[in-house]
Amino acid sequence: MNVFLEIKNIKKHFGEGESRVEVLKGIDIEIEKGEFCVLLGPSGSGKSTLMNMLGLLDTPTHGEYYINGKLVDDLTDDQMSVIRNEEIGFIFQGFNLISSLSALENVELPLVYRGMPKQERREISQQALERVGLGSRIHHLPAEMSGGQQQRLCIARAMAVSPSVLLMDEPASALDPISTAKVEELIHELKKEYTIVIVTHNMQQAARVSDKTAFFYMGNMVEYDDTKKIFTNPGKEATQNYITGRFG
Ligand code: ADP
Ligand code: MG
Repeated sequence: MNVFLEIKNIKKHFGEGESRVEVLKGIDIEIEKGEFCVLLGPSGSGKSTLMNMLGLLDTPTHGEYYINGKLVDDLTDDQMSVIRNEEIGFIFQGFNLISSLSALENVELPLVYRGMPKQERREISQQALERVGLGSRIHHLPAEMSGGQQQRLCIARAMAVSPSVLLMDEPASALDPISTAKVEELIHELKKEYTIVIVTHNMQQAARVSDKTAFFYMGNMVEYDDTKKIFTNPGKEATQNYITGRFG
């Protein structure tokens, strides 16, 4: 069994009564080990909500989520924390860095929580920072780095814990084109080692080199298929309109 992440008929609403909003309207998706999957779609279509569920940061109001064949509902809180801290590298839409800590200390922090000895965590963190091209910046504070560098710092922090899967929510949404290209290049490199799920509405390069693309629109997954097919011969008109830039 190679399916790594599987969700079945996931629904999510926020609020009740008059203020109830349906944000996910029954999503089915399977992500295989080692796959690079892109969640594409206009703002407000439910991508981040789904991503938060994949990262165990939120729960669905209906449906099932399996990680490596295990139903998440059956996990204890402790088992959930272990998966969250050791299996999942989450890269948030905002940077989420600690401003008073250096790049190196930011990367080390999750390893401190894990109780890893100082020498070991320092080496791992340095390596991760070198991997993302920040080897010469390890003692800089986040505020002394560009947006693109901060984003790569977040990726280094996620990688340092050796997760099974990297979940990235709009990793380039706040970046200029050159920084975006660098982040895309890095993701292309990481694709060889990790299962990657990335939410984007503007990373054309990354989207096109992914294995699978899911197109979201207004809480529905309109289409989920091989990326090549989605970008050359989509099955649905809404997908066609989106990828040709007619909306979004
Ligand atoms: P995307 O990431 O595709 O832009 P989101 O998943 O962030 O979309 O949001 C989908 C919809 O759900 C939006 O209409 C948003 O306003 C709504 N939404 C998201 N989080 C909440 C919340 N905590 N409470 C109420 N509505 C929310
Ligand atoms: Mg979002």
